[in-house]
Amino acid sequence: MLTVTPDKTCLACDKKLSGRADKKFCNDYCRNSYNNGMKSANSPIIRNINNALIKNRRILQGLLGEEEMTKKPKEKLLAQGFQFKYTTHTYTNKKGNTYFFCYEYGYLPLDNDWYLVVRRKEE
Ligand SMILES: [Zn+2]
Repeated sequence: MLTVTPDKTCLACDKKLSGRADKKFCNDYCRNSYNNGMKSANSPIIRNINNALIKNRRILQGLLGEEEMTKKPKEKLLAQGFQFKYTTHTYTNKKGNTYFFCYEYGYLPLDNDWYLVVRRKEE
């Protein structure tokens, strides 16, 4: 049975799709390009988040310098454009402190809007 689905768009090229409700691509070309990851590299959402993560990492790296760890106020991070909502993963230690990471650089929220900036140790 054919169903018109006006709100669905091709995952690869964003063209409107009509036809079966479970259709995801206009054609094999779009399916292939999507599966090859071309779409994921070009997607504005993914690109923006990747850029934000890379920027966050660079900011943490810059704040840390050659040190093992350093304490910085929140304003210092914000002033450089740090976006706290973008992290790659978290790590909770035995004390129950949760560190937020952007790749190998991370931070632990401290009292009064200060942050402990750290680098993940080599394993
Ligand atoms: Zn398409």
